Amino acid sequence: MARRKIIAGNWKMNMTPSEAKALVETLKDLVNNPEVDVVYCVPAIDIVPVVEAVKGTNVEVGAENMYIEEKGAYTGEIAPAMIVDAGAKYVIIGHSERREYFNETDEFLNKKVLKAFEHGLTPILCCGESLEQREAGVTLDWIRLQIKSDLQNVTAEQAASMVIAYEPIWAIGTGKTATTEQAQEVCKAIRETIAEIYDEATAESIRIQYGGSMNAKNCDELLAQPDIDGGLIGGASLKPDFGRIVNYQK
Ligand code: PEP
Repeated sequence: MARRKIIAGNWKMNMTPSEAKALVETLKDLVNNPEVDVVYCVPAIDIVPVVEAVKGTNVEVGAENMYIEEKGAYTGEIAPAMIVDAGAKYVIIGHSERREYFNETDEFLNKKVLKAFEHGLTPILCCGESLEQREAGVTLDWIRLQIKSDLQNVTAEQAASMVIAYEPIWAIGTGKTATTEQAQEVCKAIRETIAEIYDEATAESIRIQYGGSMNAKNCDELLAQPDIDGGLIGGASLKPDFGRIVNYQK
């Protein structure tokens, strides 16, 4: 069975609650594509108003991060149960900005992935190489290592239901997109890694996104690749361009 495309916006640290409501309104008619899963991953404080604002539409909501504990003395952190109760269904885990600025390691991210599943949240697990790693020719080895570490003790059934976002760090927010060949090569390698860890059926079921300056101009070609099942979109998710990506041309 063909995999359903999933286009997710990563709003990052943008949009106050009132701006968030206005953005949902602006995008409302533009993101209406019943053939595609559409997700807005938003700052924690925007989850409640955005869930309210997307009611009755095809859009689901995700968090951009969560903590690994149930509750307690972790000032400033957001518990998975809070995200679920607020109405979000997805959570981004291991975005390169969190790996870099907040020192999130694969060991820690693995705990987050397991915790997300415990609470019925669908993880959008990010992986990706730096420019130095690409130039050194170690991209595929690095990505395989990230995936294997982050998915420790995740069952095949869980893996089949999740989303992996391949985001070359050098392409995030830089306006530099990976070529379709580069993006397809890595997404294919991710699928092969899933087949190696689990089995072919799991690999066929898991959805793999490309992220890194995807926009209204390059989305059609990227989304036409056999192993690219969607996009994780930063900058362009805050603009009407996002609607064009959701309605990519086949
Ligand atoms: C991202 O941060 O997930 C991302 C892909 O950003 P951008 O689209 O702005 O490169």
